[in-house]
Amino acid sequence: MFEILDYTVPILPRDKPRYVMGLGNPTSLVEAVSHGIDMFDCVLPTRIARNGTALTSEGKLNLRNARFAKDFNSLDPAHDCYVCNNYSRAYLRHLVQSDEILGARLLTWHNLAYLFDVMRGVRQAILEDRYAHFRNEYLAGHDMEFGAI
Ligand SMILES: [Zn+2]
Repeated sequence: MFEILDYTVPILPRDKPRYVMGLGNPTSLVEAVSHGIDMFDCVLPTRIARNGTALTSEGKLNLRNARFAKDFNSLDPAHDCYVCNNYSRAYLRHLVQSDEILGARLLTWHNLAYLFDVMRGVRQAILEDRYAHFRNEYLAGHDMEFGAI
């Protein structure tokens, strides 16, 4: 995909936004920006939330995993959002395991906030002319499927 972007982006109008549909994991977003992409939309953050998965600084966490049953830590201690500030992994897991719609809503809230924060970091790094460093640092901790390395 990124190789194809290197062929297509240069022939797109320079004064128009460059959009990729269906790209939603954080590492792919950060990499695609380095290939000249400006905008994305994707169901990933909401779809994986409905399945009990959160995007975190540790990579994807599937809260259906039994290891979270007694994990009373914040969903992502490195993330500052309403969900991370108010709910434990164990409680979120309980909601997901019970098919309680609040679980999907809270994980959706967090996943969207997480992606907004990533893209806010991308924009700030571009404005400060340090995007290459930001990209390298961000990608050093996660693979392209957003698994922790
Ligand atoms: Zn959060």
